[in-house]
Amino acid sequence: MAPTRPLFAANWKMHKDPVETREFLDAFLTRHGARDGATVVFFPPAISLQAFGESVAGRADVEFGVQDVHEETHGAHTGAISASMAPATGATWGLAGHSERRTEFGDDDATVGAKLSRLFEAGLQPILCVGETLEEREAGRLEEVLRRQVTGALDSIGAARREDLVYAYEPVWAIGTGRTATPADAAEAHAIARRCIADSTNEQDAANAILLYGGSVKPSNIDDLLAAEGVDGVLVGGASLEPASFAAICAGEG
Ligand code: PEP
Repeated sequence: MAPTRPLFAANWKMHKDPVETREFLDAFLTRHGARDGATVVFFPPAISLQAFGESVAGRADVEFGVQDVHEETHGAHTGAISASMAPATGATWGLAGHSERRTEFGDDDATVGAKLSRLFEAGLQPILCVGETLEEREAGRLEEVLRRQVTGALDSIGAARREDLVYAYEPVWAIGTGRTATPADAAEAHAIARRCIADSTNEQDAANAILLYGGSVKPSNIDDLLAAEGVDGVLVGGASLEPASFAAICAGEG
């Protein structure tokens, strides 16, 4: 199904085993009422994908995907999973380029591009994450970094697929720090990111692209962030781990 606005995405990172996943969903699904037109997507750890899929069976209002895939399709890569393995669990989405993958695991733009290609080939809907560090921001390099990350990834995927990509702008200094970009910061960075997307695709595709904001989103700031120009939804880490908190974000209850 084509993603719709607003889009609420939950990145659980290395949290929630299969038992905790089921417990979370028992609590979340009773609170979560479909909001008109919204898309809600979770990214549980790979080991919990199966449990997630079983728990949301029959709930068309909740989708889920993989946090990461290997850039190759199969082979001797101990500990890795491939994009083609994910759909058997019911997963339909995939993240690529999250800043934690870039810094902790060395994913560079070419690797991120290859992962996007594998996700598309497997029929998954990718989200490309981009964002600058505090040092880069303070050095006035916001546009340069976003341009490199967007162009680097888009150059690796076929032109026909670029219009289907979903993006997340996540300033690294706002991830897990409690420090949120102001709505004005988010609007400014989104305008820059959209310009970079337009330069790699075209004006129409860039205007249509779904572009999420991520970085210390919580119930108290969701309304202001969603109201910012060019923000089509959010990618949430910490505040997505608690059912009431993420249900409040999805409901837009500040
Ligand atoms: C993230 O990791 O994608 C994220 C946005 O985390 P947090 O909401 O905890 O800052």
